[in-house]
Amino acid sequence: GPAPESSKEALQWIADRGGIAGHYINGEWGALRDDFPSNNPATGEKLAGVTKGTAAEVEAAVKAARKAQPAWAKSGHKRARVLYAIARLLQKHSRLLAVMETLDNGKPIRESRDIDVPLAIRHFYHHAGFAQLMDEELPGREALGVCGQIIPWNFPLLMLAWKIAPALAMGNTVVLKPAEYTSLTAMVFAEICTEAGVPPGVVNIVTGDGETGAALVNADVDKIAFTGSTEVGRKIREATAGSGKALSLELGGKSPYIVFDDADIDSAVEGLVDAIWFNQGQVCCAGSRLLVQEGIADRFYAKLKARMDGLRIGNPLDKCIDIGAIVDPVQLDQINKMVSANTEGETYQVAAPEGCFYPPTLITGLSSASTLMQEEIFGPVLAATTFRTPSEAVEVANNTRYGLAASVWSENINLALDIAPKLVAGIVWINGTNMMDAAAGFGGVRESGFGREGGWEGLTGYTKPKASAKPVKPAKP
Ligand code: NAD
Repeated sequence: GPAPESSKEALQWIADRGGIAGHYINGEWGALRDDFPSNNPATGEKLAGVTKGTAAEVEAAVKAARKAQPAWAKSGHKRARVLYAIARLLQKHSRLLAVMETLDNGKPIRESRDIDVPLAIRHFYHHAGFAQLMDEELPGREALGVCGQIIPWNFPLLMLAWKIAPALAMGNTVVLKPAEYTSLTAMVFAEICTEAGVPPGVVNIVTGDGETGAALVNADVDKIAFTGSTEVGRKIREATAGSGKALSLELGGKSPYIVFDDADIDSAVEGLVDAIWFNQGQVCCAGSRLLVQEGIADRFYAKLKARMDGLRIGNPLDKCIDIGAIVDPVQLDQINKMVSANTEGETYQVAAPEGCFYPPTLITGLSSASTLMQEEIFGPVLAATTFRTPSEAVEVANNTRYGLAASVWSENINLALDIAPKLVAGIVWINGTNMMDAAAGFGGVRESGFGREGGWEGLTGYTKPKASAKPVKPAKP
């Protein structure tokens, strides 16, 4: 049928730019070629053509960033003004950004409007404050220089904000490559940069796929900040080994969601809706492994299934929708393959529409060693098992190669506070899930990567120490 009214502004925005996403280098639109399509996964329609950045184009962007960096590093006050202007303009264009994100990624408009866009804005406000303070608050540290940044498709604008805001605040310039499925909100962001008075060369965006990403990794940059799969993270670590380039890797996860028998069951069920069905489960810190204490398992599963029956799946532009489309048929295929290869346990699925949709799925009675308990599915599939004692819960929770997040549910705070430190994870939530803030460092351990985004660690990750001629007051031990 015809495009819904709410998508008209975004579709017009794309049409006005020739229907192509391409490079923003040195403050100008560079090459614009229709090298591959970017589709709306909910309908299968082509939204735009995307330019696949060549190594020469990546080099041109890095060169522009290199040239702009010394002047950008000079004044924290100026950087604060510019970051603040970006935040204001993101707010001004928030409706366009939310609709664009939903068209490009398939996520429910409620989420892009109430989560992705507001959190991205918050990231720029937060870091504007730190840019202002930088000269006084970070003695003995300076900007790294030019940062290459590579992001995934699950939170296109938010991941862009997590990368660009702290890098700019600390006096770096950047070359960012969006994921191949989702380049469009980065294009809107580029225009916002021009409008906000970002000096040419400070923010550069090069669109493309993994080959473009690899060219950026090999280019003359001082840091690579990567968010994506553990597999690609490993390749990037190899490619940068011995190069002197700084590196942060935010990779996959298989985060445990542990429910003790004294938990507030209704809250824990509602939390799971966020943990595994937010963004169709395409969330690195998704609570994708459910561990329920044996005594309440039957009651818990019954309530969970009833809640699943109430989830609404369909057109992501509809404000009543809980579950939108999977980002691309390739990803849908992967989810299908992983779930149909499983022969263990019992599967409960609700109905989903035809097309690039996958139903909310619960698989109970899995062993801790099973593929579905071990491998990241990156879809709306919850793998569940039971445990008897708190120590068994810790053992099962830590039986993973990942270590991104964990969630503990109990009304006994002594128990929760005893368990939390024993979980091998970069972040532990108690009676909550997916809580993030610009002021809190986010990141993993083990094969979930290293480095933090947000918070103090996120900021210092974009600086290097430098002994200065001025005596520097040592930090208190
Ligand atoms: P992906 O690794 O396939 O792609 C991520 C980005 O890397 C894309 O921009 C892609 O073009 C680029 N890329 C691909 N090959 C490359 C190469 N050889 N060199 C350089 N760049 C390359 O991941 P994806 O499928 O887009 O995203 C899903 C994964 O991201 C999941 O594993 C998820 O857990 C992870 N993720 C992690 C976090 C986190 O903060 N830890 C956040 C979101 C997603």
